[in-house]
Amino acid sequence: MACAPEAVLGASSTLSLARPRKASKTAAMLDHRNLRLTCIGAGMARKFRGAGGVPPALAPAVLADYDAIIVGGGPAGLAALSGLARVRRNVLLIDSGEYRNDPTRHAHDILGFDGVTPAWLRFAARKQISDYGTVDLVNGTVTAVQPQKNNTFFKVLADYPGNKSVSFTTRKVVLATGMQDILPSTPGIKENWGKGIYWCPWCDGHEHADQDLGILAHLDSAVTSVREILTLNTDIVLFVNGTDTPENRNITTTKFPGWETYLKLQNVRIENRTLASITRLRDGASPYADPSLPTHPEHDLFQVDFEDGQNPVLRNAFFADFPSEQHSNVGPEAGVALYGNKLAADGKGGLVTNVPGIFAIGDANSDNVTNVPHAFFTGKRTAVFLHVQLERENSVAQIAAAGEKRDGEESMMRDVWARMNEPGDITHAGIILNAIKTRPRRAVLTKSNTGSEGSASGIPVGVQAVIQSKMDFAR
Ligand SMILES: Cc1cc2nc3c(=O)[nH]c(=O)nc-3n(C[C@H](O)[C@H](O)[C@H](O)COP(=O)(O)OP(=O)(O)OC[C@H]3O[C@@H](n4cnc5c(N)ncnc54)[C@H](O)[C@@H]3O)c2cc1C
Repeated sequence: MACAPEAVLGASSTLSLARPRKASKTAAMLDHRNLRLTCIGAGMARKFRGAGGVPPALAPAVLADYDAIIVGGGPAGLAALSGLARVRRNVLLIDSGEYRNDPTRHAHDILGFDGVTPAWLRFAARKQISDYGTVDLVNGTVTAVQPQKNNTFFKVLADYPGNKSVSFTTRKVVLATGMQDILPSTPGIKENWGKGIYWCPWCDGHEHADQDLGILAHLDSAVTSVREILTLNTDIVLFVNGTDTPENRNITTTKFPGWETYLKLQNVRIENRTLASITRLRDGASPYADPSLPTHPEHDLFQVDFEDGQNPVLRNAFFADFPSEQHSNVGPEAGVALYGNKLAADGKGGLVTNVPGIFAIGDANSDNVTNVPHAFFTGKRTAVFLHVQLERENSVAQIAAAGEKRDGEESMMRDVWARMNEPGDITHAGIILNAIKTRPRRAVLTKSNTGSEGSASGIPVGVQAVIQSKMDFAR
């Protein structure tokens, strides 16, 4: 078998946890008894079991435990899993279960599921997806994603509950790790987050329409937020917590010329005192609300107190603009570039990052949209792209293994030469193709990265790396 040795060791200790497979019970039993079998995923195990080896012309370009590992099981990760399950990809989803919208009462603006509780949405998705036989969902935290052999495959390390450390190999990695909100320490904000204190009018505004509203934000962003909320609320107070300063007024004017006139026209008041606390006076959650209805009013009531101890203000609900950060560092630690504080993802390349083979979807990625429909869309987009890319890689390896070896070797040599043929270098032999001239990476093939391991396709891993690199470039 052509598994990387570490894959055999890593997988062997853990797959009993990772494999409550439905359609592959036999494979799961074999996993328990014959640890070596676990170094290939169940999908492949099914395909090749009993064949007495893999015919080179049918083998995948790279043999790994999984076609893909998805890190994170919020809506983005689940959407990617669904898309890959539908085409029988062999996929593991590892989820640490700290969802961004966990605190909220209901999730809105999700077609067909408007008003659903976030937990029910995930439950329904998991239940359906787990009917597909080639995918696994497990609880755990991915601690590292380590690119191997020029990104032709990856080693994924994770901690499962019960202090069990595991490792798997995978051809592709999908980061669906989400963002986490950095909530201020003001008493009452964290406690009421998602239950009267929200972040987005589309998510929760309709339930508090025509109620007395507060906006918690710095002056410049509080002022621009007013434009988002005016169709829902007209009694609005901006709680800017001491940020109404001459300097911030200038910044606000640059962003929104005429803002002071606008606030006067809309009768919006600025409260600049420093917040001391927000105290809930009434809980607007209605245990009797009809869950089949997309929306129903929620009548919360809060008291805002200030450090001066004078004149508290009452409000029914708040929208806030607080910063957020990546939930996980595994992407950046694997070499994924950040755009601002988001994982930079290429919309034209199925949301691939700068590390070929690692994709970023959902809130965590750089297209700067953060809602459930976006999470679904990006998961699906990556699933389609990733599936086709895997098969493109397979087809190159399989055609080469089926008898066109010389072409494959020649193509590899051309590729190596192209990488070395840099303008300005004393050996530069002129420009052949634009594509070659602008090639982004300059991997140098050495004995260590051409590798001594063979693969089931008969193509050395290092050569496969070159093939992948060509295809990455061609995308
Ligand atoms: C209060 C609030 C209310 C909201 N309401 C709505 C709404 O009504 N409608 C709407 O469309 N949007 C809403 N949103 C936005 C919505 O929550 C996000 O857009 C959505 O959750 C993004 O999905 P995701 O899968 O990218 O991330 P998440 O749902 O945050 O999921 C990420 C998952 O990855 C896991 N993870 C992270 N790192 C690792 C790791 N190293 N290993 C394993 N797992 C890991 C996390 O534990 C988590 O389970 C709301 C957000 C908030 C804060």
